[in-house]
Amino acid sequence: MSAIFNFCAGPAMLPPAVMQKAQKELLNWNDQGVSVMEVSHRSKEFIALTEQAEADLRQLMEIPSHYHVLFMHGGGRGQFSAVVNNFLGNDGNALYLVDGSWSQAAVEEAEKLAGKDNIDTLELVSNIDGLNHVSLPDLSKIDKDYRYVHYCPNETVDGIEIFESINSPWPVIADMSSNILSRKIDVSQFGLIYAGAQKNIGPSGLSIVIVRDDMLALPTLPQSSIMDYRLAVKNDSMYNTPPTFAWYLAAEVFSWLKSVGGVAEMEKLNIEKAKRLYHCIDELDFYVSGVAKENRSRMNVTFQLTNAELDSQFLEEAKAAGLVALKGHRSVGGMRASIYNAMPLEGVDTLIEFMKAFAAKHS
Ligand code: PLP
Repeated sequence: MSAIFNFCAGPAMLPPAVMQKAQKELLNWNDQGVSVMEVSHRSKEFIALTEQAEADLRQLMEIPSHYHVLFMHGGGRGQFSAVVNNFLGNDGNALYLVDGSWSQAAVEEAEKLAGKDNIDTLELVSNIDGLNHVSLPDLSKIDKDYRYVHYCPNETVDGIEIFESINSPWPVIADMSSNILSRKIDVSQFGLIYAGAQKNIGPSGLSIVIVRDDMLALPTLPQSSIMDYRLAVKNDSMYNTPPTFAWYLAAEVFSWLKSVGGVAEMEKLNIEKAKRLYHCIDELDFYVSGVAKENRSRMNVTFQLTNAELDSQFLEEAKAAGLVALKGHRSVGGMRASIYNAMPLEGVDTLIEFMKAFAAKHS
């Protein structure tokens, strides 16, 4: 079978080297004679794996020692409710910045749990001449007390990324599900970072939480034990049986990332991949991007064909050429090429060649 490049937004492609290693180890992990799925999470071998995974992630993201690293259940959406239940208590307010579909979904979950009166929102995106622009508000001018401000620096569906940092008088919580580990970030600017694993880390269902120690002193409510950060910290993310296979794969992805030069190298590659693909979209009248240049996502490249009647033919021919999962999210239509860390430059170049040939054929 010739090479397939998988542009799925998530679950997304994982590094082939990791998948090959996992395949080899499937029936005999770490000389145990059984799969990693079949060993106790409390065994010394599995604990060693979790310690290595945490150490690697700390090194990759330069996570300061007063932050806890948690491996939890429930993916990205699980954290939409966890942050509310863990930090708002009976009477707390929170501010949610909205720059696309996922930050809006987080608002809806927060309003459901905390009540609309306790959740304020600010829309960051304005459409000027057909292009979505993000502008960040000056939060220091707001005369209200919030427990936290929540935002999503990379909107997977809309292809919008926020590169500037959010200056806030309140702790900043970021949903980095689709851009964690794609570029260097200063963890110390955040009260909490979370990410569903299925884009840059590993299998879906797992979520990574990086939480500053003082956040755990905020008032909380009685809540589901498995989503309680304090219990997760106390029990080393093993209050109940954790998703062990997902944790193992995440550990392998961290180790792979270190072997290819860490986040700095990955960032360089991601800049190059995105630059080439957006250049192709801008260069040909056949395609159009709806996002202002400064807010174009490096991970999820959304674009439209100027003749939408050719959409299904584009997808069919792309698939035949080994370029799969390019259909845009159903809420926005068009195309979306998700080019997370595991997507090699070769995959992006192959897509560009295809896009040029398709445009030439149909112009
Ligand atoms: N947040 C962002 C930015 C996402 O892209 C996604 C899923 O794609 C989610 C949250 C929801 O993640 P999950 O499906 O793991 O709940």
